Amino acid sequence: MLNYKNHSEKISLIKEDKLSLRENVSFFLDNIKRNSNLNAYNFVFDDCLMQTSSIEQKIKNGSAGKLAGMVIAIKDVLAIKQQPLTCSSNILRDFIPTYTATAVQKLIDADAIIIGKTNCDEFAMGSSNENSAFGAVLNPVDKSRVPGGSSGGSAAAVAASLCDASLGTDTGGSIRQPAAFCGIYGLKPTYGRVSRYGLTAFASSFDTIGPFARNVEDIALVLSVISGYDEKDSTSFRTDVPDFITKLNSIKKFRIGLPKEYFAEGLNEEIHNAIFEKVEYLKKQGFEITEIELPHTEYSISAYYILTTAEASSNLARFDGARYGFRSKEDKNLLNMYVNSRSEGFGNEIKRRIMLGTYVLSSGYYDAYYRKAQKVRRLLKQDFDKAFEKVDLILTPTTPTTAFKIGEKTSDPLEMYLGDIYTTSANLAGIPGINIPIGKDKQGLPIGMQVMANQFDEVTLLSVAQIFNLSE
Ligand code: GLN
Repeated sequence: MLNYKNHSEKISLIKEDKLSLRENVSFFLDNIKRNSNLNAYNFVFDDCLMQTSSIEQKIKNGSAGKLAGMVIAIKDVLAIKQQPLTCSSNILRDFIPTYTATAVQKLIDADAIIIGKTNCDEFAMGSSNENSAFGAVLNPVDKSRVPGGSSGGSAAAVAASLCDASLGTDTGGSIRQPAAFCGIYGLKPTYGRVSRYGLTAFASSFDTIGPFARNVEDIALVLSVISGYDEKDSTSFRTDVPDFITKLNSIKKFRIGLPKEYFAEGLNEEIHNAIFEKVEYLKKQGFEITEIELPHTEYSISAYYILTTAEASSNLARFDGARYGFRSKEDKNLLNMYVNSRSEGFGNEIKRRIMLGTYVLSSGYYDAYYRKAQKVRRLLKQDFDKAFEKVDLILTPTTPTTAFKIGEKTSDPLEMYLGDIYTTSANLAGIPGINIPIGKDKQGLPIGMQVMANQFDEVTLLSVAQIFNLSE
């Protein structure tokens, strides 16, 4: 069992000789084996045990990095040199990259221990982790249910104590939604806060990398390490990285907005009530709560699925059998090789999105779909800009329902897409969002509350999360 609440407690225990890092890592490795039916990991790095004594020594002599000994799992869409990078796809089943993603390299440089790569929806496309060539991931809270997606393995691994923290990616909700379904914290940073170098691109203008953890301090700590400008990613921002940890407890009386569009039809009643209980709590603490409007919300799902599939159809063109990964044996001529490699290598959801994206970009439909969706994206961003003139934070549900049953939505992709209703807007606008676990429904399934902040204001986001973290 784990006898620490967060990383700073873990460090103290190690310093006082009350915890051996080797035993701690062994515990996680054993726990992964015991819970192999969850299918949370695609690959486990057993040899990470070998790093424990040198890191433990560094902790004791005071020369260790910020994340010394934190055991972290990485979503299998991020490159780690000389380790498999599959994106949970057959097309990359045997692919080994020759470099490491910046976000992962920063964890390693801070003396974290990378324990393995986690399962996810193929190329991060999905909301249930059922679109994986490695099979579905089970929700540790109720194994008949999905953990959410696409970072389902990263969320399940944290929820089941198969690591201290993990990295996921969020293009339309893939950190916040699985965090909500599994009952943990998950933060999607501002677009540009964390370098995307070494992340396999799904929709480049939406993709972000962020942490999952069981407490807010560790979220803040991992975020502070992975953030920052990177010359290898021209969309990463040249802006200072605040000290997220020391600012955690500088709580002011923030102004909080409740967008009425997010509490309309379709929201499960128990989630609605759980959130309003928390709203009452915040009111009692003296926070100013107002109703706000985000009038273009109803178009967010359509705009999201047009723009991201367009970007995906272009990004995934590189997987053609010639340069990366799988090549079909049926390769009589070049065209035939391309067609067969892609037909055999990609799963159904990927093919659906490539076709959709190619269609919305085609000359006859570009204006009607792609250009129009770009305009909607701008309007959505303006909705948020206006809202943030009046409030510091926006509070909403993370998901319209709690975790659904495995297989429940696989035959109806549209219904699956509609579940992303509360999360896609933050990616369209590029703003940060966090899932805060706020309790359970009658069936014992976790309920999540989402808080969004203005661009680069993760400090405010984290300090409101910390209020709930401390009241647990
Ligand atoms: N569920 C969304 C989708 O399928 C979000 C995915 C993500 O954020 N990677 O596109």
